[in-house]
Amino acid sequence: MTDNALHSRSRLAGYDPGRLALARVLVVGMGALGQNIVQTLALSGVGRFLLVDFDEFEDHNATRSPFFPNAGERARFGGRKAACVAHRVSAISTADTPEPLFSESTVQRAGDGCVRWADVVVSAVDGIGARAWLAERARLHGKPMLEGGFSGPEYNYSAFSGEAGANCYRCFNPVTFSSMSCREYAREAARHQIVPAIQSTAAVLAGMMVEQVMNVLHDDHNAYGLRFYGDIRRATFDRVNLAVNPDCPGEHDPLPVRAVSPGSADPHTVSDLLEIVRRQTPDGWITPSEPLVRTAFCTRCGAVCQVRAVESSWARSPRCAACDGPWPSTPNLHPGLTSMIPIAAPPDPDVAATLLADLGMNPGGYVAIVPAGGERYLLEIPGDPVSTFSRVGG
Ligand SMILES: [Zn+2]
Ligand SMILES: [Zn+2]
Repeated sequence: MTDNALHSRSRLAGYDPGRLALARVLVVGMGALGQNIVQTLALSGVGRFLLVDFDEFEDHNATRSPFFPNAGERARFGGRKAACVAHRVSAISTADTPEPLFSESTVQRAGDGCVRWADVVVSAVDGIGARAWLAERARLHGKPMLEGGFSGPEYNYSAFSGEAGANCYRCFNPVTFSSMSCREYAREAARHQIVPAIQSTAAVLAGMMVEQVMNVLHDDHNAYGLRFYGDIRRATFDRVNLAVNPDCPGEHDPLPVRAVSPGSADPHTVSDLLEIVRRQTPDGWITPSEPLVRTAFCTRCGAVCQVRAVESSWARSPRCAACDGPWPSTPNLHPGLTSMIPIAAPPDPDVAATLLADLGMNPGGYVAIVPAGGERYLLEIPGDPVSTFSRVGG
């Protein structure tokens, strides 16, 4: 079928297939909602995706997973959500040459390169930590973002422009969570318990959110700053205008981007990065996108774990290697979180040795620098972000 004939009906409905084939869409979370969104976008002619999920399919996902793996996919991808969905997307996309990329990290560890790569960011994650992270980074990079969630028949979603001064997700969700704060940690853990979830809500919400993605990709911005609520069982729907919260802890302004000075070697550790940063900003702070955990107690046996990674990595699996976790034990206890790394002072040895990859600062990624007495900026880490993403068959 010619491209013209293939997209004849959707073109009549207002889609521009040329734009959709070129659009780059980041979808974070490959649960029921993320899969339904990706399915609809791919059928509609979007071809370039970055799909992020660290998780694997479980049997109960089958009732609301259009891309639940068959036996062959299980053998090939071991039930890994991002790989399975990317594989299926390349088969169903009606774009000429679909290019689904994927990442099997947490989005925090995949880092800012994901956000920068995208024309539009879609948040389909259930954890408040990942939602808040994504909202912040989208704003720092000036990217539009759609986010949504559902429970049983009820759903909500909103659309945020990446423009300076506009409202953000955190204007009405100011709380984030910290693994060091018991209450929020417990709340975050509770979110990963059993929540009511059905395919009909996932499909309806996905359709609603996809139409907002289409608006963004077609430069129609009428839904920005609105929040939509619905209940598919009672067939109710509402929308509210979101105000800019003057006490919002979130980011409302995109930051300028600066490249590293030419001739800098590729950095691998915080120590390497400090050397590069000092050449252009001698004093101030490097601010990782999430606080760095140096050491923490194994939640099963109490041993001290050497973490040296962002908080979400620790929270995902807060156990030592002897308790089936990823973290080696250490005799040195350095509790607490590091959210600002001083540029001029000699670095703390634990922080200096931390791998940039474990802070989500990957090749082609970005890190926010706060110069002493100057304006914040995003430093572009040398490299190609696409080299850090995976490809089906690649
Ligand atoms: Zn805000
Ligand atoms: Zn342990």
